[in-house]
Formats: sequence, C-alpha cells, structure tokens
Amino acid sequence: MASIAIDGPAGAGKSTIAKLVAKKMGYIYVDTGALYRAIAHYLVINQIDIENEDALAKACEGISVSIQYEQDVQQVYLNGENVTPFLRTEETGNMASKSSAKAPVRAALLDLQRDMAKEYNVVMDGRDIGTNVLPNAEVKIYLTASSKERANRRYKELLEKGENADFGKIEADIIERDERDMNRDIAPLKQAEDAVLVDSSDMGIDQVVDVIMSVAQNALP
Ligand code: C5P
Repeated sequence: MASIAIDGPAGAGKSTIAKLVAKKMGYIYVDTGALYRAIAHYLVINQIDIENEDALAKACEGISVSIQYEQDVQQVYLNGENVTPFLRTEETGNMASKSSAKAPVRAALLDLQRDMAKEYNVVMDGRDIGTNVLPNAEVKIYLTASSKERANRRYKELLEKGENADFGKIEADIIERDERDMNRDIAPLKQAEDAVLVDSSDMGIDQVVDVIMSVAQNALP
C-alpha cells in the first residue's frame, strides 16, 4: 500500500487539496482532524475536564472511534454512532485544538490511522502524519500559507455561507491554533525532514494539486 501524507497548519487547504489528490490517484482520503474532533465532541458533551488527567484517561479508555466510507465520503463513528454532522462546529474545533495536545487522546487514535494506511492506499491529512503516524509514507507534503491568507480564505468561506465573520478574530484564532499545534510536547506540527514544502499563499487550488501530483508521480512506482 502507498501513502501520501499532507501536513500543515489550520486553514492551509489540506482537506480540499487532499480530497482532489485522492480522487486523481484513486486513493482513499483520510481526514485525521475529524478523528480528533470526534473525541473532542465526546469530551464536550460529557463535560470532561481535560486538565484532569485521571478523568481524561478514563474518558479515552471508553472511547472507540472508527471510520467508514459512504458514497466515498468519510464518516466518523464514535462508540457506534455516526457523529460526522457534529464535527465542524466552532466549539468542537476549539476543544479539538486543546485536547489533541493530550497524550491519551493522541494514543487513542494512532492505531486507527496506521491501520487505515496498512489496508488502503491513502491520502492522509493532519499535523503529524509525515513525522509520526506514517514516517515511511512514500510522499510527504508540508502544505502551508501565510496566516493572513489562511484567515482571508476562512473569512470568505464564512461570508459565502451567509455567516458573520470578523477578520481580526479569525486571524487571531488561526495564530493561536498554530501556536498550540507547533509547541505541544507530543507530536507537534512541523515539517518532516523529507517532506516537500508547498506554500500555497499565492497559488490556486489546481496549481497546488498539480505540484503534489508531480511529486507523487516521481516518488511512486
Ligand atoms: O484539521 P482540523 O482543524 O479538523 O483538526 C482539528 C484539530 O485536531 C486541530 O486543531 C489539531 O490541533 C488537531 N489535529 C492534530 N493532529 C492531526 C490532525 C488534527 O493534532 N493529525
């Protein structure tokens, strides 16, 4: 099986790009952020204090996360329930950003991610795929963009959905999430030594996909 790992900070366009690359390659797209969000959803609804080590460890022991594909779209199951519709909320995202730094949360998801890559050809996006989850991935991409550009994309996305958006707040939030992801003790976000850096600040989606496809075509038999 072959793996394409795409890591990078929040809002760099990883999921959009990863989905397109997966389609072109005929691979499965694994959105690992959704797995962290599923655990975050559990922690929010059960009001777990993530700073209480015992409570968090106990909660994680009782959590089972799995992935299924329905019409080629990833669905995340939490203890047998499809929680996919609840994962994109602000509250879940905030909790995921904090709880993903905790050891029991990361440990609970490691085997699932590795098992997916053993069973299928995958394009997997996240923060630590190339550095930690799949260190032997055939293709590693570190996809980034300036925080201004990432905030700008998010801002436009919210306006298009007809939602309220405050550019300053969005950018501050992105910077705060980067800080947390890059400075945590376990599996921090960083470019793997053998990853190809793609800065999409001044690139369109198709251009980014083309660059990744050519890296993949050179690396894969
Ligand atoms: O990518 P997404 O925003 O859905 O991820 C939610 C949170 O999960 C991120 O803020 C990040 O802290 C965490 N995450 C992680 N490792 C991954 C994927 C996501 O720590 N491989």
